[in-house]
Amino acid sequence: MESLLEISSFKLWLFLLGILIARYVFVAGIPYLWLYAIKKKKFQKVKLQTEHPSKSQIFKEIKFSLFTMIIYSSGIWLFLYWLKHGYTKNYVEIHEFGTPYFIVSMFLMVIIHDAYSYWIHRFMHHKSIFKYVHLLHHKFSNPSPWCAFAFHPFESILTLGIIPVVMFLIPWHNLALIIFISGIILYDTFIHWGYNIKALKVFKWQNTPMDHDVHHRNSKYNFGLYFTFWDRLMGTYLSK
Ligand SMILES: [Zn+2]
Ligand SMILES: [Zn+2]
Repeated sequence: MESLLEISSFKLWLFLLGILIARYVFVAGIPYLWLYAIKKKKFQKVKLQTEHPSKSQIFKEIKFSLFTMIIYSSGIWLFLYWLKHGYTKNYVEIHEFGTPYFIVSMFLMVIIHDAYSYWIHRFMHHKSIFKYVHLLHHKFSNPSPWCAFAFHPFESILTLGIIPVVMFLIPWHNLALIIFISGIILYDTFIHWGYNIKALKVFKWQNTPMDHDVHHRNSKYNFGLYFTFWDRLMGTYLSK
């Protein structure tokens, strides 16, 4: 991470953009190839919506996700600047806070992110702003794995906001943050992939592709990201 901070600004931004795009293509591309092409017939019975998204929908999902990657790489460039200047609660050696805290910190990130995500999502559904920002994501009523980052630019900025929240709120190690960010990409892709694979629901309060599919079809329910905790607490949970 430290060596990254030494390269010139533009090269660093380009490098970050390349990593983000490559990761997006890899994480969305593999389940797409598997579920929507190679094993399409086998998985059809667990497809949440019988119809398959059109090519033009997939093209739009990718186009808006690429815009999101441009915003994310710019934001991460800024966060690295803050890191370099020691503005955040970053620590360098795991033993400074110990291994148990290193592990707990990643759980904390997920819990903080789940609350952050629920409330910004509720905010974006407020009738005064919904049609200007979040409506774009809801145009994809039958989402595919490519849809996970298909956002209006303002939504991309809001969703990226979790990273500075974590960076300034709790002591964090580089590796913990990298694992957490990788987890976001995987989980966001998972809840958009459009299939109900029961074995991947491991606990009752887990937010699943089925829960998020309900949200894409009926935007009054299921605002959660990882868990259904906030939805159940706030009366916005609908199981099917
Ligand atoms: Zn969605
Ligand atoms: Zn929504």
